[in-house]
Amino acid sequence: MKVIYVIISIVALFVWSGCVHGQQKTTQSMMNKELTDLEKYVIFEKGTEKPFSGEYYNHKGKGVYVCKNCGALLFTSNDKFDSGCGWPSFDDAIEGSVKQTLDADGRRIEITCANCGGHLGHVFEGEELTDKNTRYCVNSVSLKFIPENRDTLVLNDTSKIETAIFAGGCFWGVEHLLSKQKGVLSVESGYTGGDVENPSYKDVCSGETGHAEAVRVIFDSNKVSYETLAKLFFEIHDPTQVNRQGPDIGNQYRSEIFYTTPQQKQIAEKLISLLKKKDYKVVTKITPASTFYPAEDYHQDYYQKNGKTPYCHAYVKRF
Ligand SMILES: [Zn+2]
Repeated sequence: MKVIYVIISIVALFVWSGCVHGQQKTTQSMMNKELTDLEKYVIFEKGTEKPFSGEYYNHKGKGVYVCKNCGALLFTSNDKFDSGCGWPSFDDAIEGSVKQTLDADGRRIEITCANCGGHLGHVFEGEELTDKNTRYCVNSVSLKFIPENRDTLVLNDTSKIETAIFAGGCFWGVEHLLSKQKGVLSVESGYTGGDVENPSYKDVCSGETGHAEAVRVIFDSNKVSYETLAKLFFEIHDPTQVNRQGPDIGNQYRSEIFYTTPQQKQIAEKLISLLKKKDYKVVTKITPASTFYPAEDYHQDYYQKNGKTPYCHAYVKRF
């Protein structure tokens, strides 16, 4: 199926290549099409929702908060506190997830999503509201809450939430098999590692954008180690195939690990060297994570939605 789609897409690319490569580099080029007018106003025009009006200022569920626009992990419920200000308040953020810049008013520090640039709110220090003495003051409409999952992950005080990104062929199968792992909170299919902003599935299928089909995993590294997840990744796809997985051929199906911390990089290197000692000719690349673009909705939970099982991914013991 996909091979036919690739051929159609290559033809289509000749028609569209002019406008794809002519895209302007703006934050809004990564706009989620599902956003409401209020969400667009806050996220892209740096607006502010009315205090005490948002969905999350008084929200006490256990789970994580991701960017409403791009799905990147930002905050956990462990760091949320009631500041009484009328907006969701956190005294810490996931490392590397939030960018701080001087606001246009020259006084406050604006916070934006490090993955997509979307506006979140402001950060204040020295108010002595919590031990960390910091308040990330965030618009509810800039956030989406993902609750803990009784089947795979229940959060506690020791939870250490991280993001892992794996590319191993068609994302439908990788996502399906990683979603069942204990300690995993959420999985999402998308595109990363390329050089065109906001690519569509058609763009990526052309093989011309440089993106890989990839899966973003949010997990608790105190419940399932990155090493366990990375081993599983190497055992549910064939890391010796160059730019393909089974019937799917093209550089978008390459094997690649996009690490989000230096520790993840070290673990990936260690596992590849272990596999090479076992005579596997591993071609998996190890690359720092860059912007992750969620795939279209119909690609998410594909096998669950369609009642099918993966056609090119299956568990093979390699360690
Ligand atoms: Zn974002």
